[in-house]
Amino acid sequence: MNLQDNPFYLIPHYPDFSRMQPEHVEPALRARLAEARQAVEALEHTATPTWSGFMEPLFRACEPVSEIWAFVAHMHSVMNNPAWREAHDRMQPEVVAFSLRVGQSAPLYRIALALRAADEAAPLLTNPRRRILKSAIRSAEHAGVGLEGAARERFNAIQLELAQRGSSYGNHVLDAIKSYSLWIRDPADIAGLPASLLCAAAQAAREAGEPGATEQKGPWRITLDVASSIPFLKHSRNRELRETLFRANATKASSGALDNSAHVEKILALRREMAVLLGFSSYADLSLSSKMAPSVAAVSQLSDNLAEAARPMARRERDELLAFAKSQGFADAELAPWDIVFWAERLRETRFNYSEEELRAYFQFPRVLEGLFGLAERLFGIRVEAADGKAPVWHPDVRFFEVYDGTTHHVLASFFLDPYCRPATKQSGAWMNPFRTRDQRPDGSLCQPIVVLVCNQTPPAQDAPSLMRFDEVTTLFHEFGHALQHMLTTVDDPEASGINNIEWDAVEIASQFMENWCYDRTTLRDLSCHVETRASLPDALVDKLLAARTYRAASHVLRQLFLGATDMDLHARYPQPRWNNPNDVAREAADRLLPIPLLPEDRLLCSFSHLFAGGYAAAYYSYIWSEVLSADAFGAFEEAGLEKAEAVRNTGRRYRATILAQGGGMHPMDVFKEFRGRAPTVDALLRHIGLSA
Ligand code: ZN
Repeated sequence: MNLQDNPFYLIPHYPDFSRMQPEHVEPALRARLAEARQAVEALEHTATPTWSGFMEPLFRACEPVSEIWAFVAHMHSVMNNPAWREAHDRMQPEVVAFSLRVGQSAPLYRIALALRAADEAAPLLTNPRRRILKSAIRSAEHAGVGLEGAARERFNAIQLELAQRGSSYGNHVLDAIKSYSLWIRDPADIAGLPASLLCAAAQAAREAGEPGATEQKGPWRITLDVASSIPFLKHSRNRELRETLFRANATKASSGALDNSAHVEKILALRREMAVLLGFSSYADLSLSSKMAPSVAAVSQLSDNLAEAARPMARRERDELLAFAKSQGFADAELAPWDIVFWAERLRETRFNYSEEELRAYFQFPRVLEGLFGLAERLFGIRVEAADGKAPVWHPDVRFFEVYDGTTHHVLASFFLDPYCRPATKQSGAWMNPFRTRDQRPDGSLCQPIVVLVCNQTPPAQDAPSLMRFDEVTTLFHEFGHALQHMLTTVDDPEASGINNIEWDAVEIASQFMENWCYDRTTLRDLSCHVETRASLPDALVDKLLAARTYRAASHVLRQLFLGATDMDLHARYPQPRWNNPNDVAREAADRLLPIPLLPEDRLLCSFSHLFAGGYAAAYYSYIWSEVLSADAFGAFEEAGLEKAEAVRNTGRRYRATILAQGGGMHPMDVFKEFRGRAPTVDALLRHIGLSA
């Protein structure tokens, strides 16, 4: 095929998804990589330390490669099949190698330093550009550009070993989950289990060599997959089986061929060594140097404050659960770890007696969308309109929308929405990805943002609308929050516009902020419409939904703080004489923070993939860090008065002009202060989860 006809080589503003095929990837990408390498090489000789003589042409040189790759990654995640997987996996190393080539270029680094020096001598860059340059210099330094000789060699060897050990760690966890089965053959042992779990457990049994397994007669196979283990621990009335499964889960990937203990020790040591090579005193300092949080001490301070507020309430939650269990016939003196989830679920049923099914009948997908768009109009003065057919799509279920400014009536951005689960070809979970970023090009043209929102909600049954579970509604709001931040940016430089260049621990502010509206009475009324009666959610059900939000919230917060503290201690303070091994770090954090201690044989660190096979090393605190800020941002609306339309409108416009508009062009603390008029506090989060008046 001619390159000019290749939908990955020449990509129109609305990409032609309907024509993209796996076989187009390699020729288009190879051609673009060759062009980009040549352009980068030329720049290494000809660039001058100015924006237009260096940063601008460097971005344009790399842009086509990242553009193709974004669409390849997208097709790979929503239309997955062996051919797409093969096309993706074959080219991934080349794309990674190219970005390392650019990131580690010493000539480009020297020009960047010269530009920074010139700007420091006599300011010549705008604030967003100064931040873009700072990020570029930092990522080159973190990629080892400043190292020479033996240090450089050692650094590269560490990088390689970390990548290998991380991926081996992740595979061990997956294999440990896959290799474990809890077989149930006696129908007496399924007491309490919901039909959906029995159905899945019979299916799992059939896949594991019991072709005759049925939902009614068994045998049933329970696994360590969360979709199987969590409902089992919640509902199984057989305490011994719960204990068996709980212990298996707490010790997974910690023995035999799949033992991750050595990886944990070695990965921590390699990270420390790498940080020291780069001039940091710990891996945590290296991690935080690119985050919003200013220091390890600041993170610990936040954690301490929240823990202090949550501890008394968590103790009450524990005592109340024990008292409830006893009233139902529980005979022991204390609840064991495998009792907590089970009795918490019973207490929830008693206290908030509504079912998920009952709630779902009120959340018809088309109505939820209308309510969400209505909220965005109310808050931010934008209008969202369906524009299906205006842009090609990759699947008939995918919708296309345009976003208009409510005052000027101009189109600001557009987005795709791929709502339903397609287990055979679509990755699970939900996410937002940018396809296009706001870009005021040197030739005067303006590129407007396009994003994709991907959810995996329940598809519609025959000629009935899709009825959404409440958590599917909050997920949609969450992803739409990310989308708004990318679409309503006013930053002109693409490297810092929308969600680009925002610190890792601040990107979830805009998304979590939107989730708060799912608990706002006015919004809930607008979202809900019973599929038969057409009534909106009755007040009694709204009350229960709001009350359920704070159910066992203190225990939940302490669990998150425990995970965050373990992570931070491992990366900031380990090793120390008082700890024999990394497990002692987790145990000490648990004693400090959890209402009941860890089991002696607990090996949490052997399956904590966030830290050892993902991007959350010395960054697990980001979840709660950004939640503090998103709750405080929502607090501004509460203070203005959620029932006062005019006040909500004004606060919403201010939110749009600051948090949604500034993107990565300004430090998130400055953006927050501009919106809130002060630094963030934890008060709003404590109030939302019921830990203060
Ligand atoms: Zn998110």
